[in-house]
Amino acid sequence: MSAEPTPPARPVVPEPPPAGGAPARAAAAPRPPHLPSRDFVTTINDDGSRYDLHPADVRGRFASSRRLSAIGLILIYLLLPWIPVNGHPAIFLDLASRRFHFFGYTLAAQDAWLLFFGVTGLGFSLFFLTALFGRLWCGWACPQTVFLEHVYRRIERWIDGDAPARRALSAAPHGLGKLARRAVKHAAFALVTLGITHLFLAYFISIPELWSYMQGAPGEHWGSFLFVFLTAAALYFNFAWFREQLCIVICPYGRLQSALTDDNTMVIGYDARRGEPRGKLGTPAAGACVACNRCVQVCPTGIDIRQGLQLECIGCAACIDACDEVMDKVRRPRGLVRYDSLFGLAGGRTRWIRPRTILYAVLLGIGAVVAALAFSGVKPANFIVFRMSGSSYYVGPEDVRNQFMVRIVNKLSRPASYQLTLRGLPAGVHQTGLTGPLTLAPLAEQLTPLIIFVDRRQYHGPFQFTVEVADEAGTYHLSREMEFLGPDARLLPADEPATPPAAQPSTDSHHG
Ligand code: SF4
Ligand code: SF4
Repeated sequence: MSAEPTPPARPVVPEPPPAGGAPARAAAAPRPPHLPSRDFVTTINDDGSRYDLHPADVRGRFASSRRLSAIGLILIYLLLPWIPVNGHPAIFLDLASRRFHFFGYTLAAQDAWLLFFGVTGLGFSLFFLTALFGRLWCGWACPQTVFLEHVYRRIERWIDGDAPARRALSAAPHGLGKLARRAVKHAAFALVTLGITHLFLAYFISIPELWSYMQGAPGEHWGSFLFVFLTAAALYFNFAWFREQLCIVICPYGRLQSALTDDNTMVIGYDARRGEPRGKLGTPAAGACVACNRCVQVCPTGIDIRQGLQLECIGCAACIDACDEVMDKVRRPRGLVRYDSLFGLAGGRTRWIRPRTILYAVLLGIGAVVAALAFSGVKPANFIVFRMSGSSYYVGPEDVRNQFMVRIVNKLSRPASYQLTLRGLPAGVHQTGLTGPLTLAPLAEQLTPLIIFVDRRQYHGPFQFTVEVADEAGTYHLSREMEFLGPDARLLPADEPATPPAAQPSTDSHHG
């Protein structure tokens, strides 16, 4: 039996002393000026103020793949409200009508419990993927990263130039030129933000409705206007200024990393065994790292990956591309910074199948089966019978009467006809309300009164009966047991009117 491999020590590499020979960090000493350190957040100055990062541009296989993936994701976001499926946008969360459309599949408000499976399924998928591949979501698919890196920073690059130019502009005294650039950039940010938020609103009200809202005065749709305004303000604040702080300080998923990953999880790491001791090209006995700091310059969260795995790392792979480019130039093998597990970086073998991944996979599988069963049980209509409020029965000179309401909701995106039938009625019973097939428009609902009368001469006390509903196509059939209530027949002489009991709360409603 092979022994369990001992987890390697995390490849923490001591930071070289900055010029002047002072240690990287002493307890009471001030921090070296924005030198990434595991003990500080690079983007927060010692006095708590913000240090603006200007990550350098990077080219490479991961940068290209991430750009393609971001373009695809942004296109999906832009196009989904425009693509009709079964007469509705592909994703349309119609809160006003309490209908939720997902690629032609419609859920009514009564089916909202199914969203539980969607949310937990997404959660377990994310846990599973994180255990295997670390922060793949953060670096490749999170809207924060996608919009920040591929939209807002692109705009900034076009207007302010590359990283050195942006840094110079930041440091430059305020003047007309700087103000003009800032105004153009922030106007572009504001426009893009408004576009994103208006489209977000379209997921709830549809594109035609959004267009009609936009042509009206804000006061005509105060709620929607406020929603767009507040969302746009939050997004603008985030993408124009707050940026990587969201990942570093706020995002709960980032905080959970240490609980979700282990030493076999794929992370982006620096091969310290190969890279150290780092030194300029030509330094005798130096490792593969030429101490060019290129991996630090491209990092959007301002960390130095050579100091080991850090909470701030969002797994964007920019440092891999940067280092590979350097390794190509100095004719050394790529992969000094690479996707690998901490075991792998320490020279061990990554284990993909382990208790954590098995547990997540099993939970995911169970969830998928339960969700499939739950979704397959969703009916194309919703059917409820409930007793009208007031007395549970009425006794008149000729008959005893019970009053119900029947509610049918057509959850289909096409008209549907339903036939309602009463079964199990004794002799002497007649009803009003259910006269023929009910035809409902797509996603419409109808309330129909159902009044059942029993001739007093043929009344023998309370009895059970059944209300059945079936659609014309024969795909939907449901029946509900109901009870006709009334006084004890011995207390109700056929020729003497009785007094109805006091009003009782309606309790015997049935849902389908
Ligand atoms: S350390 Fe590398 S992967 Fe992590 S955020 Fe910085 S550049 Fe991206
Ligand atoms: S980019 Fe590569 S070679 Fe340059 S400092 Fe970073 S790890 Fe070392």
